[in-house]
Amino acid sequence: MADIIYLDHAATCPVDPEVARGLAARQVTAFGNPASPHPAGRAARAVHHDARARLARLLGGRAEEVVFTSGGTEAIALAMLGTAGTSPGHVAYSAVEHSCVHANAARLVERHGWRSTVIPVDPWGQVTPAAVAERIDAKTRLVAVMLANNEIGTVNDIAAIARIVRRQSPRARLVVDAVQAFGKLDFAVRTLGADCVAVTAHKLHGPVGVGALWTRVAIEPVYGGGGQESGRRSGTQSAPLAWAFAEAAERQIVEMHQVTARRDQLWRALRERLPAARLTGAPIEADGPDAPARLGNNLHLCVPGVPGGPLINALAAQGLCVSAGSACGKGAFSKVLRALGRTADDGAYLRLTPGRFTTEAEIDRAASIIAEAAATLRAVYAA
Ligand code: PLP
Repeated sequence: MADIIYLDHAATCPVDPEVARGLAARQVTAFGNPASPHPAGRAARAVHHDARARLARLLGGRAEEVVFTSGGTEAIALAMLGTAGTSPGHVAYSAVEHSCVHANAARLVERHGWRSTVIPVDPWGQVTPAAVAERIDAKTRLVAVMLANNEIGTVNDIAAIARIVRRQSPRARLVVDAVQAFGKLDFAVRTLGADCVAVTAHKLHGPVGVGALWTRVAIEPVYGGGGQESGRRSGTQSAPLAWAFAEAAERQIVEMHQVTARRDQLWRALRERLPAARLTGAPIEADGPDAPARLGNNLHLCVPGVPGGPLINALAAQGLCVSAGSACGKGAFSKVLRALGRTADDGAYLRLTPGRFTTEAEIDRAASIIAEAAATLRAVYAA
């Protein structure tokens, strides 16, 4: 694609060319059904097995705890519906969860008679352990809190939240959406203290169509079939996709510091060229003991006095791909920003997320495009 600058890696990423090449090769060499006993099946099984072990290592878990899925959405559904059991209970989840968490909680309420509670966030967008403590009790059976937010990048202290869940709701399963955090934040599933952790490949330069659920608890499959993935998720397994996920994740982890350097460069350039811009969410520089961390690839800004839609369109017209929030938000004002008490009248909100292949020159050009477009629109709307 000629002449675009892509700063929307939190929505999805271009596949790493090396991963794309390796994936294409394995579509030919490891095409077999990993469940088949013949040589083609055995070859695919070896690739699939190895990918599961690599992914488990990166997550800090055991291979048998990893269930391959089609992506993060399916992993979350499997975690929430697959641990819910047959009797109604209480589910608590944060106000800033991805729509897949909201939707599965709504399903438990509407179809299975559950009660639900939404946990509010602090001004940084953080789900504090205290806020969780106030909203769960001995009847709570499911708690869902994301590791890092997809719009503003705020990181939650899952280990502290897990301790509260164990103490106050011993029957509850803690489901953690780590779709944005995996590959960008150093964590190990065991030290998080969660029961289920969802991840996906396409947020870290792997292909769309493969994700995983790490789980240390029993999971009921949400639909029937051939009983693959130890009976937890039926459907023919893809050795090439599993390989591509593990490979992309390893590469992302090794190169994440470069992505953060690009994000920091962008923030420095924008502070200089667009001083009115205000950071949304957690600070970028260390800021006191209470401030939460922020994902190293995330910059989220409010530009006062400038309308959001027209700014995004003006940037797109110049080939700069950014977003106002979640790609799943369908243009409505962000639920995450609403949870922070923000409104569309605040100005233009921009989520800027560089990736492994973003260059310094692209960042420099992007900062100029944003500053110039904001200045032009501010003049027009002030007139
Ligand atoms: N959770 C979060 C935080 C996300 O950002 C996304 C993707 O946008 C998902 C879940 C869904 O993942 P997938 O697109 O792999 O289904």
